[in-house]
Amino acid sequence: MASPFYVTTPLYYPNAAPHIGSTYTTVCADTFMRYHRAAGEETLFLTGTDEYGEKMVESAAAEGLEPKQFVDRMAARFQEIWGEIGIQYDRFIRTTDADHDRAVQHLWQTIYDRGEVEFRDYTGHYCVGCERYLIERELEQGKCPQHQTEPEIRSESNYFFRMSAHFEWLISQLENNPQLITPDRYRNEVLSLLRSGALDDLCISRPRDRLAWGIPIPWDESYVTYVWTDALVNYLTGAGYPDEPAWEERWSGVHHLIGKDILKAHAIFWPTMLHAAGIPLYQALHVHGYWNMDNVKISKSLGNLVDPLIMKEKYGFEAFRYYLLREMSFGLDTDFAEAGLVQRVNADLANDLGNLLNRSVSMLGRYFDGVVPAHEGESPLREVAERVTGDVDRHMRAFRTQRALAALWELVGAANKYIDSEAPWQLAKDPDQRERLATVMAEVLECVRVIAVLLESFLPHASARIIESLGDTPNAGSLAERLRWGELAAGTQTRKIEVLFPRIEVT
Ligand SMILES: [Zn+2]
Repeated sequence: MASPFYVTTPLYYPNAAPHIGSTYTTVCADTFMRYHRAAGEETLFLTGTDEYGEKMVESAAAEGLEPKQFVDRMAARFQEIWGEIGIQYDRFIRTTDADHDRAVQHLWQTIYDRGEVEFRDYTGHYCVGCERYLIERELEQGKCPQHQTEPEIRSESNYFFRMSAHFEWLISQLENNPQLITPDRYRNEVLSLLRSGALDDLCISRPRDRLAWGIPIPWDESYVTYVWTDALVNYLTGAGYPDEPAWEERWSGVHHLIGKDILKAHAIFWPTMLHAAGIPLYQALHVHGYWNMDNVKISKSLGNLVDPLIMKEKYGFEAFRYYLLREMSFGLDTDFAEAGLVQRVNADLANDLGNLLNRSVSMLGRYFDGVVPAHEGESPLREVAERVTGDVDRHMRAFRTQRALAALWELVGAANKYIDSEAPWQLAKDPDQRERLATVMAEVLECVRVIAVLLESFLPHASARIIESLGDTPNAGSLAERLRWGELAAGTQTRKIEVLFPRIEVT
């Protein structure tokens, strides 16, 4: 039996509501899950919140709340927002869930039993923002390069995972499996980091008397887990580790999606932890860049948030979703600009797709009472559709939504061009051209149907409405069957639908 397609987002820090970065990762995961599900594969889609650690205690205290009260409220807010924008995850996991405690303790006990953990005294530069000690060479002018703050000097005894003992192994994995981290630039970045000697072993604990908000270290309850130590394990918890018999099978199909800011934890901490526990590596880590505004990363600390609900209210969520999936070249930083969004939506959705849909269904209504005519001949559209279907599949399996959508829009363009060149309005004037008109209209409508089926994982709502207007049922049957040319039967009654993506007027 084939591995299920198991896709994860990072567990988001719920110290602020979702913004464009977390929305983007989650929308991508949702799109890939829908594509694999439509292709008939078993799928599992995991997202959630990372709720332990010092930063969460501080955020809760700032609002006068206990940590648990604070994270309960924030986790509910995340679920509500994902619900409102139609994200179909299988599980929303919280690191405070009971089965996650169990998974974390089991994993670390296993690593400890294999002799991979040591107790050491340590004095170092501790960055509160990073929630870890930084080593000397990571500092830039005495400051944490990520937070631009001076770390505190702290001293304590802690448990350390002998991570550096696995670096040679990890280097060989990365060299021998180029698909392990994509795009390739991030694999190279990790390789140079590993070879630089800048990394050491990983402190995995915090004394409980200082920080009680964490999962107890199973062999020494006077310590709790350091935040990454526990959060990364969620991907195993979500597969059912360690108690569900099917966990290994689910795990074998796992793909992680992350933003590049958490590359090190996912590309170095996580694989070495898995290796130390004797668990196979993930299938692949897919790393995307930042959404910038005027070349500055959009983040909560900068306060220039792009709120997904405001985007939904202003433009409709699928217009925003389309922009996210089409605009960002996966792996590269991308500028977010509302003017660009408006342009994209007007050009691709209102003009190209909207006109195709509107005029093809209108003309069918005018010339054939909205009923798909029987026809003999064939158009050049079939060939384009079959090529594009293959291209979309290839790009989706390589986790490249922008390329898949660009390919799909070649088909939209080909259909519009075919209408222009065949000019059904001319054919309709000549009774001798009735058969030709039937062929042109039936082929165009068939092409619209294939476009709608291919659009399903990207814009599920719009796709369903197009498919319904063609007298069909959305999501019925396997993707391969539904993409077969000629499935739209003669005699099908179509009906006009309201404009899917109205033109956005710039005020
Ligand atoms: Zn820091």
